Formats: sequence, structure tokens, C-alpha cells
Amino acid sequence: SQTDRCILSADQIVMQFGGLKALNRVDLQIMKGTVHGLIGPNGSGKSTMMNVLTGIYFPTDGKVNYGGILISGKTPSAIALAGIARTFQNVQLFGEMSATENILVGLHHSFGSSLWDILVANRSDSRHEANARQRAASILGFVGLSDLADEEARNLPYGKQRLLEIGRALALNPGLLLLDEPAAGLTAPDIKELTEIIKKIKGSGVTIILIEHHMDVVMSVCDIVTVLDFGQKIAEGTPAEIQGDTRVIEAYLGS
Ligand code: ADP
Ligand code: MG
Repeated sequence: SQTDRCILSADQIVMQFGGLKALNRVDLQIMKGTVHGLIGPNGSGKSTMMNVLTGIYFPTDGKVNYGGILISGKTPSAIALAGIARTFQNVQLFGEMSATENILVGLHHSFGSSLWDILVANRSDSRHEANARQRAASILGFVGLSDLADEEARNLPYGKQRLLEIGRALALNPGLLLLDEPAAGLTAPDIKELTEIIKKIKGSGVTIILIEHHMDVVMSVCDIVTVLDFGQKIAEGTPAEIQGDTRVIEAYLGS
């Protein structure tokens, strides 16, 4: 049924900052297994929605259900443990840690082990920690970073840093992955690689919400697209429907 397929439902979300309604009664239904685009001009409320869905903001009004469980009001770490992972609009890595260690930081949340145990595990014979390192290696392989596993994150080219962030989010073994403008600042070849990785993540069964300004990326990976403008949903449909929607075109022209 329709409800079986709906993995996340945000109902009538309001997010007020002083006199500004960054989100004004937005409904969002995310179907399992899809890539759901969230687009709109700058300041339209996209990142705010992501922050509401991940518990960084507690909505002024409205509810969020994930997998049938009410998550609005829960902490970001509780929501992450429930299976929602994210990347940020600005890269947030541990610059002096290696690519592998950055993935291990993501893994320690899902394994429930202490970060210290994992990070000092080089000499350890603990099976648990060996498993974590093996899983980190497999995630780095998945995002195409095997060759850079031991590099400090800050030394990676920008495009690779973005992929590492995605890898760290995948370490949580999420059911839903939120990507906030992953293609921002990337070169054309990097965008192509990112697009392939997004398709691979979808292929592995993870549902994705994608905020993105690069329309070619949106058009090639999204199954459905929701358009925000001034905190309100102004359109929703397939990429082709959205592309021809006059309200959407006007929203972008007016920005
Ligand atoms: P988008 O990601 O679509 O560019 P945002 O969600 O970042 O837009 O912002 C939507 C609106 O909410 C903007 O006007 C922004 O200035 C405002 N806003 C976002 N976060 C805050 C905050 N923490 N405090 C006050 N205003 C905020
Ligand atoms: Mg934003």
C-alpha cells in the first residue's frame, strides 16, 4: 500500500525564526527506494527542512514520522540511530584524521563502541575493531576512495572530501540519506562521479533526499522533486513535470 512505501512523512511543518517563517506548513512524503529532490531558490527553506528532519531544529509546528515512528522532538543522535544520515551544505570532516578514521567516526555511532577503542585499534587484536576497519575499507571502496584511505581528510581534493562525507554518512548504515548540495563547488568530472555514486547508493536500497542546485544532477537521479519557495511547497512532480512548471520557472527567475 501507499503507507508501506512511505518511509518518511513530514506533516504541516512550520519553522519560525523570529518574525520569519522559514517553513510554512510544508508536507513532504518520501517513498522508500526513491531519490527525492528538494529544490528552490536560495533561502527557500531547503536546509532548514533538512535540519528539522535530522533533529537539529525542533519545528515550531508539525510532525515528522520515520518508519512509522514520531521523530520530531528527538535528538539528532537518536534520529541518526533510527536510520537517518546526512551530509552538510559545507563539508564537515575531521581534517587531521585520515579518510579511514573519518569513516570510523561514522561507524562508532552504529556499532555503539567507543571512538577511542576504534581509533587506537591499530595494534589491537579485537575482532570488533577489525570488523570496523574492514567495514570502513569497504565503504571507502564504495565511494571510490580506496587509494586515499590513509590520507588526511584536509589533503584530499575537494570533490573527494565530499565523497568521504557521503561515506561517513553511509557508515551509519542508514535507511534514509540526506544530501545537502553535494555537487556544490565540484568540477564537471567530479559531478559525474558523484552522480554515479548517488545512483549506486539508491541501487543498494537506501532512500535519498537530495538538495541540489545543479539541475542536470537533479534531472538524472531524482524520481520525484519537491520545489520550495519562501518556505512553501510550490510544486511537486517528476523532473520533467517540474522543468516545465511555470510557477517553478517564475520562482527561479524572481530570485
Ligand atoms: P536554503 O537552504 O533553501 O537556501 P535555508 O533553509 O538555509 O534556505 O534558509 C531559509 C530561511 O531561513 C533564510 O531566510 C534563512 O536566512 C533563514 N534561517 C535559516 N536558519 C536560520 C536560523 N538558525 N536563524 C534565523 N534564520 C534562519
Ligand atoms: Mg541550503
